[in-house]
Amino acid sequence: MSEVVPTGINTQDSSPHRVRVLLVDDQLIIVEAIRRMFVGQPDIEFHYVTDATTAHAAAAALRPTVILQDLVMPGSDGFDVIRQYRIDAGLRAVPVIVLSAKEDPKLKAHSFAVGANDYLVKLPDPVELLARIRYHSAAYISRLERDEAFRFLRESEQKLADANVQLQKLAALDGLTGIGNRRAFDDILQREWQRGQRSNKPLSMLLCDVDCFKLYNDEFGHQAGDLCLKKVAAVLTEQLKRPADLAARYGGEEFAVVLPETDLEGALKLAEACRAHLANLALEHPVTDAGVVTISIGVASFVPASEYTPADLIASADKALYAAKAAGRNCVRQG
Ligand code: GH3
Ligand code: MG
Ligand code: MG
Repeated sequence: MSEVVPTGINTQDSSPHRVRVLLVDDQLIIVEAIRRMFVGQPDIEFHYVTDATTAHAAAAALRPTVILQDLVMPGSDGFDVIRQYRIDAGLRAVPVIVLSAKEDPKLKAHSFAVGANDYLVKLPDPVELLARIRYHSAAYISRLERDEAFRFLRESEQKLADANVQLQKLAALDGLTGIGNRRAFDDILQREWQRGQRSNKPLSMLLCDVDCFKLYNDEFGHQAGDLCLKKVAAVLTEQLKRPADLAARYGGEEFAVVLPETDLEGALKLAEACRAHLANLALEHPVTDAGVVTISIGVASFVPASEYTPADLIASADKALYAAKAAGRNCVRQG
């Protein structure tokens, strides 16, 4: 018989610890004797195959919680069948109870060596068989449940870690322009300041402020003003060449750029490039001297030393920005 033959015992049982037995034995008389042992046992679902060559496929399809395995069958070696279960990821952990024709220490040792979990001589005492079947089945099911719980835990941990990374990215971005926000600026400036102290290399920053932006809003409306800020952010970002450089929205219509390992000369060049690129975009402005949207930029550069703080660098850039405004706007000044 090559088919898996369910005997119809309790297939509707919904008990979480239902025992599903697959008996692999070529002798129908044994099958019948074992089947009788399960009559009146509502937690046990019984299936069998008499053709050992189909045992592996039947087990894979049925997913038993315990296998009763005969050793000597026509054209098949029970040890080989057990070995096959053990190299199948889906069956590797399914408990196998050998049902042997004899009590033989060598057969017993070999059974355990190829991966069997228990060894009984036919026909076993029904009480002992039931106890062992239930024991192995319950151990297998709790192992599956534990593995599932660990898998779920690992998945949840991974999802949480991904969400945290996502959240951290979002928490560092300015909602309007998509570039870094004030918090990102503060964090990066602090980090680069410390790095500069160690490396003794200059740290520069630009503070950029849109000229006469209040009047731009007044003339074109707040939404147009928002769009304009996005364009300014894009111009600043475009000019950055090094991965460590950061453009951030400092607040309102002010932007800051952090330039690690950059001296004053390099920072002034970059500032001028930002100023010129925005002016060249020629975004109409109602009142600036140039008739287009422009920015004024204050530049500061420090070799971070312990007698100064990042606040000193910002104050220096702010002072330079004030000087640029005083000089007529649309220009760059250094602190
Ligand atoms: P100055 O050249 O001296 O910098 O003049 P200003 O008009 O740019 O400076 P002021 O500080 O007087 O005005 C800044 C304006 O920027 C006022 C405010 O409405 C506008 N502003 C700040 N944040 C936003 C924003 O997110 N969207 C828009 N549309 N406008 C903003
Ligand atoms: Mg301002
Ligand atoms: Mg302004």
